[in-house]
Amino acid sequence: MYRIGSGFDIHRLAPGRPFIIAGMEIESTRGPVGHSDGDALLHAVVDAILGALALGDIGDHFPPSDPQWKDAKSEVFIAAALKEMNAQGYRIENLDTTIILEKPKLGPHKKIIQEQIANMLDVDVTQVCVKAKTAEGSLGELGQGLAIGAMATVLLAQVN
Ligand code: MG
Repeated sequence: MYRIGSGFDIHRLAPGRPFIIAGMEIESTRGPVGHSDGDALLHAVVDAILGALALGDIGDHFPPSDPQWKDAKSEVFIAAALKEMNAQGYRIENLDTTIILEKPKLGPHKKIIQEQIANMLDVDVTQVCVKAKTAEGSLGELGQGLAIGAMATVLLAQVN
C-alpha cells in the first residue's frame, strides 16, 4: 500500500532576515519572511507528508494565528508530520523536491541540504532528491529574487 503527497510553499524574501533552508542558515542579503522561520522547503515537505496521509495542510495543524508558532523552527513541523505518519503505519519511500530561487545560488549547498533533510526524516540520502532552479529573472517576485518557492512530492509505503 502506497500513498503519494505533494506540497508547495512560497515566502517573500526581505533584507535583514536570516536565510533559513532545511533548518540551516545560508549567507544571503535577504531571508524569508514568515510567522515561523520561513523555511519554504521544509514547509513543502510537511505539506507533502500531511497530504499523503490526507491530513490537510500545515496551516490546519500549525495556524499562523497561534502565537506558539511565532519564529518556530520548522523542524518541529517535520517532527509532528513524521509522528502522524508513524501513527498511521507508513514510512517514507522517497522524497523529491524543487526549490525556485534566484539568489543565493543553491548549487553549492544542494548536497548538504539533501543530507540535512535525509537526516531529519531518518532516511538514506538516496531516498531524497533536492533540485534547485531559478525563474530565469522573470516570473514575478520569484524571478526578481524577492521570493523563494519550493515543491515536494513524497511517496509513503505502508510498514508491514
Ligand atoms: Mg511556509
